[in-house]
Amino acid sequence: MNSNANTDSSPDVLLIGAGIMSVTLAVLLKELQSETTIELVERLEIPASESTEAWNNAGTGHAAFCELNYTPEKADGSIDVSKAIKISESFEMSRQFWSFLVDQGVLKNPPSFIRKTPHLSFVWGEKNVEYLRKRYEALKTSPLFSAMEFSTDKAVLKEWMPLVMEGRDESQPVAANRMEIGTDVNFGALTRSLLENLQSKSGFSVHYSEEVTSLHREADQRWRVDIKNHKTGQKRTVRAKFVFIGAGGGSLPLLLKSGIPESKGFAGFPVGGIWLKCTNPEVIAKHSTKVYGKASVGAPPMSVPHLDTRVIDGKKELLFGPYAGFSTKFLKKGSLLDLPLSIRPSNIFPMLAVGKDNIPLTMYLVNQVRQSPDDRLAALREYYPEAKKEDWKLEIAGQRVQVIKKDPKKGGVLEFGTEVVSAADGSLAALLGASPGASTTLSIMLTLLEKCYKDQFKSAEWQAKLREMLPSYGQSLANDAALCERIRKETGEKLQLN
Ligand SMILES: Cc1cc2nc3c(=O)[nH]c(=O)nc-3n(C[C@H](O)[C@H](O)[C@H](O)COP(=O)(O)OP(=O)(O)OC[C@H]3O[C@@H](n4cnc5c(N)ncnc54)[C@H](O)[C@@H]3O)c2cc1C
Repeated sequence: MNSNANTDSSPDVLLIGAGIMSVTLAVLLKELQSETTIELVERLEIPASESTEAWNNAGTGHAAFCELNYTPEKADGSIDVSKAIKISESFEMSRQFWSFLVDQGVLKNPPSFIRKTPHLSFVWGEKNVEYLRKRYEALKTSPLFSAMEFSTDKAVLKEWMPLVMEGRDESQPVAANRMEIGTDVNFGALTRSLLENLQSKSGFSVHYSEEVTSLHREADQRWRVDIKNHKTGQKRTVRAKFVFIGAGGGSLPLLLKSGIPESKGFAGFPVGGIWLKCTNPEVIAKHSTKVYGKASVGAPPMSVPHLDTRVIDGKKELLFGPYAGFSTKFLKKGSLLDLPLSIRPSNIFPMLAVGKDNIPLTMYLVNQVRQSPDDRLAALREYYPEAKKEDWKLEIAGQRVQVIKKDPKKGGVLEFGTEVVSAADGSLAALLGASPGASTTLSIMLTLLEKCYKDQFKSAEWQAKLREMLPSYGQSLANDAALCERIRKETGEKLQLN
């Protein structure tokens, strides 16, 4: 749909980019304050075609069950579980929000976007086995992870993940964690369903093939946003009270163009992704889990390899990766000039500092980019020893732009999480970074609303609505086993996961 195309307009809210972030924000705003008028502009012809598209991400419902980068080992040998608990709670919030939307009839067919798929961590070598045992013991005490299993028994592991165990060296010490209640999520299908419902609401419109080219603050405090239509070449202007830059990799250049003081010192470092996709139906049928490993030295945390069952548009698939790639593009369908054009006097020093402090990462990326098909097969065989080259083909994944920001001590630091950057008066916000990403969209958007809609957020009306949508809102699932069990059971039923 492309309503009001080529006309200037003055909505309350302008959302840039039709990925899961903007679309979730639109749904939330319409629930909390239905009279808000919202326009959504997207540079491509269809929604959810960049990182949110199913083939461009790994589709893990990140609950920190088995992604080992969320539970680092501390210098004293103990395991830091704080990040895992935070991510797990955030994913439970997403599940509650989607369940609320199922109750409302907004999301009609949960299996079209979420399915139960056990999550496993798999390691080999004495040291890693010990790490995994300690991780299991540290997490098991939290209600969020109490269902976790741990085993070093090869017969059990073979039952859990036959492809990973068949043909493996019998003398190799191995171990796995397993969470049966893991999920596979098609974030693209979810976003399209949400958008379809939004389009039936008054005061909401979406415009495709429209790219935001610049944004400026006007004297009346509105944001003037200039937009170009790629198909017709026509230009138009939107004047909005609030702007959300949810442009994925394209957010950084737009944030810098906004000129808000809070944007100073931010830069981006693009990391591409490559999958091996299985083409042999017999192999695909033998694997039904998501198996996460340990990252190699220097690897960015989101490049931890995994052997991943997916269900995309009703079809079972098997992916391995992502292998890291390097391109100067900020979006998969972006321009090679994205990185050079993002360099400013205010961010060049943080970028140089990050380059100097991250030599192992640079080396890792150089090695990944130089990998031959045989190197990639060798990496796959660490997880699936009997893999055959002819059963796998290369697919390009989405592009992620990691956040570089100013740091008083180091000059600049590279961050692997997400960051909401907002203007002091709350009139503009941008989302930078990509991990744990789509799974925690709801919590990220609540943080944004708390920053940008300060008074409304605290109001009794909004708080009551938030509790209606999110039954555990304001409470801790990590500290309340009975609440955690009840919420998981309820959302599991509504999302058809039990
Ligand atoms: C390889 C990979 C694996 C991942 N795996 C997972 C996973 O397993 N689980 C998970 O939860 N998350 C995962 N993520 C992260 C997740 O995909 C992202 O966090 C999420 O999709 C980001 O959504 P978004 O709406 O911010 O961005 P996007 O989906 O990228 O949407 C941004 C939109 O903005 C548009 N746009 C850009 N510039 C402009 C402009 N100037 N004007 C108008 N429109 C513009 C783009 O065309 C795009 O449609 C992964 C990401 C990658 C790349």
